[in-house]
Amino acid sequence: MLRPWGKNCHPKERLGNQLLRAAVVLAQELDKLEVGWAWEQPSQSFLWQVQDLISPLHSGPFYQTTFDWCRYGRKWRKRTTVIGRFPFLAEFNALCRGGHEHLVLDGGLWDQTESE
Ligand SMILES: [Zn+2]
Repeated sequence: MLRPWGKNCHPKERLGNQLLRAAVVLAQELDKLEVGWAWEQPSQSFLWQVQDLISPLHSGPFYQTTFDWCRYGRKWRKRTTVIGRFPFLAEFNALCRGGHEHLVLDGGLWDQTESE
């Protein structure tokens, strides 16, 4: 059984859930002010499974994109989804075409040759 909220027993899990609730409130307040917003999370994030919380965000103009970072020059794939109020988000859809290696992101691994 999928439990996107987790078991509510780990401090980091509780903090993550609190931050998610706060982000929803913030997005709703930005909607009232007609100010755009966007959320970015890995595509495999449990965030996308919490439909009861994020479904109200679908009430306004809603755009979504999914892309792999390797398509934008990074050495890692990290499939990422962004949702928000910006129509141009759909222009960033770009999934890996294969044919190259990916750097595996693992916790604190950081390639110092990459510039932010
Ligand atoms: Zn790739």
